[in-house]
Amino acid sequence: ATMPPLLSAIANAGRHGVLVKSAVVMERLATVTRVALDKTGTLTEGTPRVTEVRILAGGGLDERQVLALAAAAEHPSEHPLARAVVAAARERGIRPETARDFSAAPGRGVRAQVGDRTVRVGSPARLLGGAAGEARTAVAEMEEQGRTAVVVLADGAPVAVLAVADRLRPGAAEAVASLGRLTGAAPAVLTGDNRRAAALVAADAGITDVRAGLLPQDKVAAVRAWEEAGERVLVVGDGVNDAPALAAAHSGIAMGRAGSDLALESADAVVVRDELAAVPAVVALSRRARRLVV
Ligand code: ADP
Ligand code: MG
Repeated sequence: ATMPPLLSAIANAGRHGVLVKSAVVMERLATVTRVALDKTGTLTEGTPRVTEVRILAGGGLDERQVLALAAAAEHPSEHPLARAVVAAARERGIRPETARDFSAAPGRGVRAQVGDRTVRVGSPARLLGGAAGEARTAVAEMEEQGRTAVVVLADGAPVAVLAVADRLRPGAAEAVASLGRLTGAAPAVLTGDNRRAAALVAADAGITDVRAGLLPQDKVAAVRAWEEAGERVLVVGDGVNDAPALAAAHSGIAMGRAGSDLALESADAVVVRDELAAVPAVVALSRRARRLVV
């Protein structure tokens, strides 16, 4: 017997490195009207590097002490920024101690007990609040340069700000352009990162619709707003912070190579080969299959 069109489309998607979880998923992908992509780890390679360690005078700690504390707190996290912090410590020959009472708040950062200190590492917007001062100035300078600023707090006091830079995935602009052509709508970025860093990355990828500073539930709200306006949204993401939006959207595709387990479980399809080009490829396959079915 010849294979039904949706099943052969799934087999074809497999050849493009995309694991599509069911025929229903394949069918739904064909009717997507808009694509929303996460930034860190989806549009970008997700292997960011710490490019600067700005020590805050009021903190009383030096660079090695700060990186030792931050790396200890970030060690259990699978977030790309956490891996950058751990790598920065390792490059300097620092072997962080084992943290206790670790907890991660998606889209915000981490918190852990390191020795006798409570260490927090994460988003300036969430950890610094509106207060002015040395930390705020450092954050503003780094964000002005398109960097992601990560704040380190020890026992509630800011001790350092780290600048982190990430690279656009090769082929991101082409994939975005293809998705725009396929859906007839300009793709958007949904990110927890700051507006400036997000806008620079998005511009390189050919995206102007940028929604920044979003928590996981804000990504869901953005998707719901589109869908209430009659759109069928495809969310593409990799992180724990994307999982609710991947699940809520009409369709969800997770970037699998470095993606979090929760994202992979929440998505309808997983890009196993680490290429963004696979996303427009699978949407095109789904459309072809649907034409054969109906
Ligand atoms: P994106 O949506 O671009 O993938 P996230 O939602 O994962 O970004 O993260 C949003 C922001 O939360 C980051 O820019 C960072 O400031 C902060 N953050 C989240 N997790 C961590 C972490 N493990 N270490 C440091 N910062 C973090
Ligand atoms: Mg991400």
